Amino acid sequence: MNTEARTNPILYLVVPCYNEEEIIKDSMETLKKKLSSLTEQGIVHRDSRILFVDDGSRDNTLQLLTDAAKKDPVFIVVSLVSNCGHQNALLAGMMMSKKADIVISIDADLQQDIDAVEAFIECYRNGAEVVYGVRNDRNTDGFFKKLTASGYYGFMRAMGTSVIRNHADYRLVSSKVINALSGYGENNLFLRGLIPTLGFPSDTVYFDVKERTAGSSKYTLSKMIRLATDGITSFTTRPLRIISGMGLVVVLLSIVLSIISFVEWFQGKNVPGYTTLLLVILFLSGTILLSLGVIGEYIGKIYLESKNRPRYIIDSVIMKDACDED
Ligand code: UDP
Ligand code: MG
Repeated sequence: MNTEARTNPILYLVVPCYNEEEIIKDSMETLKKKLSSLTEQGIVHRDSRILFVDDGSRDNTLQLLTDAAKKDPVFIVVSLVSNCGHQNALLAGMMMSKKADIVISIDADLQQDIDAVEAFIECYRNGAEVVYGVRNDRNTDGFFKKLTASGYYGFMRAMGTSVIRNHADYRLVSSKVINALSGYGENNLFLRGLIPTLGFPSDTVYFDVKERTAGSSKYTLSKMIRLATDGITSFTTRPLRIISGMGLVVVLLSIVLSIISFVEWFQGKNVPGYTTLLLVILFLSGTILLSLGVIGEYIGKIYLESKNRPRYIIDSVIMKDACDED
């Protein structure tokens, strides 16, 4: 641990990469330039590094990263055995940044504005242990991404998870925060929700999002859905309560309906009611199936948590000054 951490911190830039061969070379160059300028200006310590986590890429990403790390001590590569997902790759990167005073996580496509890091570090100097990068607008996103993103934040809030709007995983955390995080053994990892609940003093930096210059988004629809359900099921049981509420409403309705039918039967009215019956059955069976699905989702998560499996498995760590690091 560096003693002048607040004024001259050791910075690790943590970059998760999954199938990023088209862009990774440019990103490495840009990140290196940025880090050199920060070091030269004395903003960060010269032991600062750029740590790439290869999340089981199937293309040439790992090879490109390895070649760079073997030549240049500023790069460290942590290679995961298989694709563990963005959140787990990030966690692996933070946990492997043992020498760092601060870690800034950024996506490999550098869509997030790298020039915001000075502002991040300034906030850290002023006492923040967590600095959230919040994007200014969503102009560079397509219609689908905009729609899913705004639906996502609305839904998360309605379900009772507190997430910072338009904050993805571009953030600074100090070694204190990483220490605290290492005590959270949950498999169902959702860092954007978890970090605010830790309670460390935090600050916000606004930045512009650029378009991806090469390659395509590695967040497929199914990965986005998984991230959203993880976000909800790892923080709140509100959906289960909503199901109980729905059950109660249905029971009350059926009492009212029984009274009405009984009265009609008593008056000798002949009720055709086939359509009504069909609709009620369809509605109820749909509701029951959906509710079972939600409950199943929670049980599935309990099942996974109870196994307590490792969240990522490291295959190798590649760096030039190997004997220097542990
Ligand atoms: N990523 C990862 N594992 C995955 C999916 C994505 O490590 O399974 C990385 C990816 O390489 C990138 C970051 O997560 O550095 C964000 O992904 P992407 O830029 O594709 O997402 P988007 O910006 O479209 O939301
Ligand atoms: Mg991106």
